[in-house]
Amino acid sequence: MPRPILATIHPQALRHNLEQVRRAAPDAQLLCVAKANAYGHGVEHAFQGLRAADGFAVLEIAEAQRLRALDWRGPILLLEGVFEPRDLELCSRLGLWHTVHCDAQIDWLAAHKTQVPHRVFLKMNSGMNRLGFTPERFRSAWARLNALPQVEEISFITHFSDADGPRGTAHQLQVFEQTTHDLPGERSLSNSAAALLQGTREAVRGDWVRPGIVLYGSSPDYPTHTADHWGLQPAMSLTSQIIGTQQLHAGDTVGYGSTFTAEGDLRLGVVACGYADGYPRLCGTGTPVLVNGVRTRLLGRVSMDMLCVDLTPVPDAQLGSEVVLWGRSPRHGSVLSIDEVAAAAGTVGYELMCAVAARVPVVSD
Ligand code: PLP
Repeated sequence: MPRPILATIHPQALRHNLEQVRRAAPDAQLLCVAKANAYGHGVEHAFQGLRAADGFAVLEIAEAQRLRALDWRGPILLLEGVFEPRDLELCSRLGLWHTVHCDAQIDWLAAHKTQVPHRVFLKMNSGMNRLGFTPERFRSAWARLNALPQVEEISFITHFSDADGPRGTAHQLQVFEQTTHDLPGERSLSNSAAALLQGTREAVRGDWVRPGIVLYGSSPDYPTHTADHWGLQPAMSLTSQIIGTQQLHAGDTVGYGSTFTAEGDLRLGVVACGYADGYPRLCGTGTPVLVNGVRTRLLGRVSMDMLCVDLTPVPDAQLGSEVVLWGRSPRHGSVLSIDEVAAAAGTVGYELMCAVAARVPVVSD
């Protein structure tokens, strides 16, 4: 009997979430973001639910190769472009679109001998101040690319820093529009938050929306809005079982550092999931957990391979009872939002999904 911990990917939820984005951005094409191994879901598992995408955006050529191996013939964009000149050959061979965000990448293209011209997305730093050409340098970068026989099509891409917050997208959008308004080519602007929150404003969407987190069922602006509010379903469930129980009395403490003290009698369950599985150690007493579909709370510190929960609300819980750390209870149907668990650790759903450890088996249902 293997250790009872499992990440289950739900292709049906991915399909549903993709549809939700389509509804929010009906005029755009969707470049589904599948970097970081599809936000920890596994490119192959995620693909089962995202076949209706118009394209995919990934970080590494290896991820693009995995999509091609699944017979995906449509667009794939490398979000950070190539990391070294020899990657350009693979781009040609695999038919990958790639971002160009710096002069070195233009130099590499200029030196690349190829029969297959490239489609590139020229990236503007419109305010995020990570990758991309500043507005001042953007047009000269475009002119250089436009003169290269190796480049057959130039599109434009930028990334919003505050689509989910009070600053919004207006400032960056204005910078982008001012700089590119007369340049020919398709645009890719919006991430999940921009597509959902700013979705009523046509210009924000661009030709290619790049949804990531919403596809995986996490709210882009939690706690302002929940995943439920956006009509999203969890695409991943992390489940385990009760592997031990203890009867505590007033004054008994739980786990390393004895950070929780029982005020009276309390039945405790030990769950086969710890921080070595990717569950955040920063989750403390009170973090929600589902046992037999019933919401209860974590007690004390998370250990490497185990965590403890309060079984008071679940009197029928016993060895082998189902535990949901986040996602949907397979037997009981109730849902625990990954955003709630992430918030208890002071982080975001993105990080939890991406951090599920290699030792956790992943299946799809
Ligand atoms: N576009 C770019 C350039 C990104 O880096 C990301 C993710 O970090 C996305 C789109 C998708 O963002 P989100 O998951 O917030 O939709």
